[in-house]
Amino acid sequence: MEDWDDGPFRPEAVTVRVPAKINLSLSVGPLRPDGYHELVTVFHAVSLYDEIVARAARGLSLTVEPLRRDSDVAGVPDDEHNLAWRAALLLAEYARVEPDVRLTIRKDIPVAGGMAGGSADAAAALLACDRLWGTGLRRDELHDLAARLGSDVPFALHGGTAIGSGRGEHITPVLAAAGLEWVIAVYDGGLSTPKVFETCDTRRRRDSREIPEPSVHPDLMTTLRSGDALRVGAALYNDLQPAAIELLPEIGDLLEAGRAAGAAGALVSGSGPTTVFLVDGPVSAAEVEEQLRASGLCRAVRRARGPVPGALVSNVR
Ligand code: ATP
Repeated sequence: MEDWDDGPFRPEAVTVRVPAKINLSLSVGPLRPDGYHELVTVFHAVSLYDEIVARAARGLSLTVEPLRRDSDVAGVPDDEHNLAWRAALLLAEYARVEPDVRLTIRKDIPVAGGMAGGSADAAAALLACDRLWGTGLRRDELHDLAARLGSDVPFALHGGTAIGSGRGEHITPVLAAAGLEWVIAVYDGGLSTPKVFETCDTRRRRDSREIPEPSVHPDLMTTLRSGDALRVGAALYNDLQPAAIELLPEIGDLLEAGRAAGAAGALVSGSGPTTVFLVDGPVSAAEVEEQLRASGLCRAVRRARGPVPGALVSNVR
């Protein structure tokens, strides 16, 4: 008999659902001497999810599987290189427990797609293991561990719509109307985030422009409160978009296809290559979805809404 049978209830398995993020704006400051860029971004969590199941086990193990028939998991590590694995280890070390867990990641968030899928899985693993092991961390402790794992991880815990600053790890919630509707074009393949930043820096050197400190455009803040898709669509921006298009010109064609189909806004998500389209109601969504599929330029098309909450425990047994 397992020794925990006599103690408080210990679950056998905990499932956490965690959303992908879009950057409604991404402002990239000058390259710093330490090689990083100061960023100011508006994160927005959308209803495109990964699921993580944490099961009681001896030792740490991890498997990755597609959540849907057309979800892709190519290139996702199933060892200590997986951010979810590192999250479980970090929590175990912090809470002084054994890292005994079998993690299963069911992915739908595009891999290396600029939607912070790895960070989402790390946030989900923290939450799932905290519940499985009964370590009961406070929200602020989970946030601190999340920030140590990566700059997009705290937002995956938080969800909603929020300004991210620093390297993205400082989160300030934003007052935003509910119910933005998105069509998401999943490109077949990924883009390396460091490569996109490098290309952005090269382009800026070529243009020899003075790079201002990063900021959020006040127009975006005002329009987000209104929830008006046309106004929000016009205020979306991403400093990394020209670099992502330079590396993969097809994503420029996808943006054009979505705009031509009547999208209120069209944007590369984060460092790409996922492109996202803000639509004004179901008729517009159907038209944009159809045109994106017809373009033959993407592997899958998803519909999503935002903002949605961050990582949440969806099942305990
Ligand atoms: P970001 O938007 O934060 O830059 P991304 O969405 O572009 O990230 P991810 O899907 O997070 O990219 O993955 C980038 C790389 O990280 C993958 O190619 C993979 O090698 C590695 N990786 C580690 N853990 C994971 C995970 N749980 N899911 C996906 N990729 C992971």
